[in-house]
Amino acid sequence: MAKKHLCTYNKLMELLEIKNLNISFRVDEYILPAIFNVSFSLKKGESLALVGESGCGKSITAMSILNLLPPNAIVTQGDIMFEGQNILKMSDFLLRQIRGKKIAFIPQDPMTALNPLYTIGEQIKEVVELHQGLKGKEAQETVISALKSVKIPDAYEKYYSYPHQLSGGMRQRVIIAMALSCEPDLLIADEPTTALDVTVQAQILNLINLIQQERKTALILITHDLGVVYNVCENICVMYSGSIVEQTSTRELFANPLHPYTQALLNSLPTDKNTQIKAISGQPPSIKELITGCKFHPRCKHAMQMCEHHIPVLTEIEPNHCAACFLYNN
Ligand code: SF4
Repeated sequence: MAKKHLCTYNKLMELLEIKNLNISFRVDEYILPAIFNVSFSLKKGESLALVGESGCGKSITAMSILNLLPPNAIVTQGDIMFEGQNILKMSDFLLRQIRGKKIAFIPQDPMTALNPLYTIGEQIKEVVELHQGLKGKEAQETVISALKSVKIPDAYEKYYSYPHQLSGGMRQRVIIAMALSCEPDLLIADEPTTALDVTVQAQILNLINLIQQERKTALILITHDLGVVYNVCENICVMYSGSIVEQTSTRELFANPLHPYTQALLNSLPTDKNTQIKAISGQPPSIKELITGCKFHPRCKHAMQMCEHHIPVLTEIEPNHCAACFLYNN
């Protein structure tokens, strides 16, 4: 077993490095901590999943990479380095250059990102004109080839369609085409299939996977569903109540989950259509709840007395495999 030390797994970054990120929210007269010491990095072309139940902080972490946090959020500590520059200290001008062009975002619900009053062709063309400086016919051809690349049939005709004329799956393909039209270095997909029918979910995930592999775009996939990441992401961070509790390669995580929360998440995956889902007992704490020690202890079947009073630190337990749990404390 490797010598234990604080988790530095995957530290040799080239594209993105989040270091000790701490975010709080101002709610009425209170400052409520929400994200605690989140650190991870991503090389060019790599894929990483941020997984956890809703409210665990994965979307807030992602929005901080775009510097698009809600107005009541305060970054109390940490750095977000993208290509060597700190996003948290960038001017609005530089941020506008990076968003859309270098870092693209795929939201959960495509309707929130599409304007119902314009055709999808016009909307993607606007992005292409802004970020690639193309005009007229050249911009239009780029849009059509982007629509083809996400396997939208009859791309020429669809160019003139309005969002409401397309199915949910087709709208999500349009968003992906828009995100990719500027050939970003990093794609952030926030629950990209949640609003879609089950049959379409797999198609969209396969498409994201294919594009990521072909274009060597780095990918951060945010999901509450551990089941969707296995074939899409190389590495994974499991988050619970604002902290990363386990971090390793996806294959290693599925083969050898260390943290009791990860084990419970994996146990809750259905193995076939007839199995009953084993939900994790209890609820994740709300941001307003003050829980001492390990935040998972009220739900953990391995909890010890020390877990109620001390906070476990994310530590490398095995080579390239980190967990924050006192079970591995010797
Ligand atoms: Fe469970 Fe304790 Fe590990 Fe937390 S530190 S996951 S409560 S065993």
